[in-house]
Amino acid sequence: MLEEFLLTIGGERREAGSGRWLESENPYDGRSWARVPRCDGEDVERAVEAAHHAATRGEWPGMPAARRGKLLHAAGNLVLERAEALAMLETRDTGKRIAESLPQIRGVADWFFYYGGLADKIEGRVIPSDPESVFNFTLHEPLGVVAAITPWNSPIMIAAWKIAPALAAGNTLVVKPSEHASVSTLAFMDVFTDAGFPPGVVNCVSGLPDECGRPLVAHRQVAKVTFTGSGHGGRAINEGAAGSFKRVTMELGGKSPQIVFDDADVDNAVNGVVSGVFLSNGQTCVAGSRLYLHHAIRDRFIDTLLERIADLPMGDPLDPATRIGPIANRAQYEKVLEFIEEAREAGAHCIAGGRPAGEGLFIPPTVFVDVDHSMRLASEEVFGPVLAVFTFDDENEVVELANDSPYGLAAGVWTADYARALRIARRLQCGTVYVNTYRSVSVASPVGGYKQSGFGRENGLEAINEFLQTKSIWMGTRERLPNPLA
Ligand code: NAD
Repeated sequence: MLEEFLLTIGGERREAGSGRWLESENPYDGRSWARVPRCDGEDVERAVEAAHHAATRGEWPGMPAARRGKLLHAAGNLVLERAEALAMLETRDTGKRIAESLPQIRGVADWFFYYGGLADKIEGRVIPSDPESVFNFTLHEPLGVVAAITPWNSPIMIAAWKIAPALAAGNTLVVKPSEHASVSTLAFMDVFTDAGFPPGVVNCVSGLPDECGRPLVAHRQVAKVTFTGSGHGGRAINEGAAGSFKRVTMELGGKSPQIVFDDADVDNAVNGVVSGVFLSNGQTCVAGSRLYLHHAIRDRFIDTLLERIADLPMGDPLDPATRIGPIANRAQYEKVLEFIEEAREAGAHCIAGGRPAGEGLFIPPTVFVDVDHSMRLASEEVFGPVLAVFTFDDENEVVELANDSPYGLAAGVWTADYARALRIARRLQCGTVYVNTYRSVSVASPVGGYKQSGFGRENGLEAINEFLQTKSIWMGTRERLPNPLA
């Protein structure tokens, strides 16, 4: 018997109008365990209509900002209460280890507390005007209905990064999770209903890109699309949104470099590189999948790295002792294996992993040396546990190599020389640079891409501006205006 997860539209739980479903497979045992509504244009119409209604009528548009903030705080508290149950669902649906999904979902509460605090601090400006009898000021207003389209790798966290600032700014939303992992996001919607958000403020539809995603992007009442996902999906969505000049935020892929100098603390850097590319099986946008090692420490670094990734316990992602869980779905598993085969054929040398392991969708941490920049492995995102290793001699050379990528999401620099670290950080073409650390994340710090990693920013003060528009109001205070044609 499959567990059923329903849509949230206008505060009500419902099936797709067509009565159709998509089945969800547990990537650990390969069994279908849940089903989610397979929405089409009619369901999207209903959801956008509910969101539009909530954005323009009823309690939400006139609600004092401080009250919006309180609702966000209530949502944050509910996330903390329900984190365990939500993390179990996400782990069953995506294969992400519970050891990662639980702290990640607990952390999501911070997004609601931070943006809840910000809701009543959205302030305009008074602009000095000449003559003084005219008073000019600005208001920052919500955009209206926001479509939030998310990928399968961290469904709740990525949705929350969009929902919290959009609500703080006074918008309403239709969320569309990935067809590969909709369960936890559908279940997450209860948080907003139970926190007391008016019906229609947060809605959720599930389904396939063409049947459900496209009509959502094209809908005339959607004012903004905030998207996280692949370049392929992003391109189609950007084109779909351009037809009606919708605002768009794009959080896309990466091929992030990690640069290790000869004065780095090797032990520490190995830990940073391992967490960068092997946590979540490399299925993270900031995966540090290109490793540039200074010649002088190359061998020592590689020996330590291979030791650290050898014989890690693989298995059930619900077991906290598991170190390597399954790849999230079969299509992704096959894509990763194809990358590995192609890298071999292109002449790269595999020194760890590189073959499926055990029953199911397992691929152990995989390391390639003798990679060069002409290979696909050097330029394209694998979104899997595959590290490509390069060597370098000097600073200018490695900065050029690091920037030789269509992507620009993140980079890591490992060195004891902070003057050098800062010099390089300024030259790297990417949205986030980590020095002697990797993967730090905070609601207060903006995240986003340079180049083909996208545009717009999530998190921090920047994110709220992605969901606001500015109105300039002029007020004449003179009793009588002169007749200009007299
Ligand atoms: P995807 O682009 O295939 O799908 C993402 C979402 O977009 C899904 O909900 C999908 O149904 C929808 N979609 C796809 N095409 C659409 C269309 N034409 N119209 C409307 N909706 C459409 O991405 P994915 O495979 O789910 O996710 C993996 C990708 O996400 C990787 O490239 C990864 O780097 C990226 N990612 C980026 C970040 C970031 O913050 N930059 C974070 C996580 C993941």
